[in-house]
Amino acid sequence: MLTLACRRHFGSWDLECDLRWRGEGICALFGPSGSGKSTLLRILAGLDRAADDQLLWHNAALASLPPERRRIGLVFQDARLFGHLTVRGNLLLAAEKGQGRWQPDELARRLGFYELMAQPAQALSGGQRQRVALARALLAEPTLLLLDEPFSALDRRSRLHLIHELQTLQREAMLPMLYVTHAMEEVSMLCDELILIENGRAIAQGAPDTLFSRLDLPIASRDDAGVILSANLQQWLAPEQMAELHVDGQPLFVTMPAAPDAPGPVRIKVAARDVVIATEPLTHSSLSNSLQTTLQDLRDVLPGQTLLQLALGQQILLARITRRSAERLALKPGSRVYAYIKAVSLLGEA
Ligand code: ADP
Ligand code: MG
Repeated sequence: MLTLACRRHFGSWDLECDLRWRGEGICALFGPSGSGKSTLLRILAGLDRAADDQLLWHNAALASLPPERRRIGLVFQDARLFGHLTVRGNLLLAAEKGQGRWQPDELARRLGFYELMAQPAQALSGGQRQRVALARALLAEPTLLLLDEPFSALDRRSRLHLIHELQTLQREAMLPMLYVTHAMEEVSMLCDELILIENGRAIAQGAPDTLFSRLDLPIASRDDAGVILSANLQQWLAPEQMAELHVDGQPLFVTMPAAPDAPGPVRIKVAARDVVIATEPLTHSSLSNSLQTTLQDLRDVLPGQTLLQLALGQQILLARITRRSAERLALKPGSRVYAYIKAVSLLGEA
């Protein structure tokens, strides 16, 4: 169990945060830029200490301890390495703090930078540095690992790959992690819990899918508001280069240029702005993916924009339409509506 109570005042901005987390698995700290996420990690790591901080980690009081006595690892967003040392040199230095749980070569292979081991760290690109910084943090074998947007310098494909690897490493080592990001798909793929940070406060906490589907939180007014759904890949259609998915039993076709490894569970992201609502089936339209849903709730989230919460079997879909359209269609809780999906991103296996 982690409990933290801390206060900070930086000019007119203040942070007043009470965190409680069971201290297992991967928990996301999610919130807009400037909300205080990095500050919280610095406080947890001991880089920013104040006399009245309270910090308990599995019953040990850490607030008065310097960073090196906390056994809390921190991967900075800018992946600070010793530039004059080689990649291997950076890893060996960190491994001295650990008990030999990991081999540097093995981690370098798994995190995709083995060919860089002899390079000086200062010669690496931002993305390469982030991979090395993660390996270095693991080698020191902390009891808690804090990650501050650790893959922000990587392209989406590499990021999804590393997220998958990080999840495997986390399970092997049973190492609890707090993961700062502002990418919803990273949260949904990696984290079993989510703490929303807004303006120096923790304002909500729970399962990521539950929080993302709520209408009353600040994330509902993000331009990329949306949900991650569980689906099942049924078959791949070679001539059309599409996959047929089932979402709570209803078919959904998504573009897929190559055959998948196997049918089975997948996760998809559907942004609220990519959902079109109709009260009757659309016939003369290019839109063909329609899901039958029941409107649960609706709320204005941006000027003139209404967010709809749609029940789809056991899962929730969000749709954002104009208030004018919501009024024209006379949408009310309980209305049966067709949700046409304009775009889906496939996040990989569940
Ligand atoms: P985030 O990581 O969520 O983007 P930060 O924790 O970096 O947010 O910053 C939160 C706020 O605290 C910002 O307004 C930032 O300017 C301020 N801040 C953080 N550390 C300091 C500091 N040492 N001195 C003054 N202001 C700071
Ligand atoms: Mg930050």
